[in-house]
Amino acid sequence: MMFRQAREAVVETCVKLADMGYLAGTGGNLALRVDPEHYLVTPSATDYYAMETSDICVLRLADTRQIEGEKKPSVEAGMHARVLAARPDCEASLHTHQPIASAYALLAMVLEVQGSETAVLLGKTVPCVSYAPSGTGWLAKRVGKAFAGPNHACLMRNHGIVCVGVDIQQAIDRVVALEVACAEFFRLSLTTGSRLPASGTALIEQTLLPISQKLKETGEE
Ligand SMILES: [Zn+2]
Repeated sequence: MMFRQAREAVVETCVKLADMGYLAGTGGNLALRVDPEHYLVTPSATDYYAMETSDICVLRLADTRQIEGEKKPSVEAGMHARVLAARPDCEASLHTHQPIASAYALLAMVLEVQGSETAVLLGKTVPCVSYAPSGTGWLAKRVGKAFAGPNHACLMRNHGIVCVGVDIQQAIDRVVALEVACAEFFRLSLTTGSRLPASGTALIEQTLLPISQKLKETGEE
């Protein structure tokens, strides 16, 4: 089996992200460059808790041709190839459906990153690419382009997020920092009520406030 150790790292990362609730079932996927010509990508529609190292697909970066792995690669394999091509300094590309940042991505707004430590990890702003259906060349192109600049993270409108890292750990750190930054945005929006566009205010009123009210009533907060 090619790249056994790297495959193990990919499986471990998927379980970690699934435990954090960032993958939403079989959603999300990740890619890892293993040499200048190849990358690993998670298989399509596979339960992360049942995934084995042999399920991880080896693809050629130049044309996304599958070299090893019996399962079909993730539909976002092409998107990851573009991201890795745009970022030769990075080995890892993670795509998640993490709840808070995905909620933020519904607003279709750039995220202004607060705090210097978070800005070091994420950059001063996180762009939001316009909507395109999963697995399409449109989406791959838009996300790839977002990483051509100095960005380390990107929001995908009505969908989720992508973060890169020099290694898997740095990409995970960015995924976590992005979730925290988006949570902070919503916290500030709820307390000041001034930083959201009308569509965002409506979103909070319809979805987030009833949840927080319910938690208060049941004492689960
Ligand atoms: Zn997705």
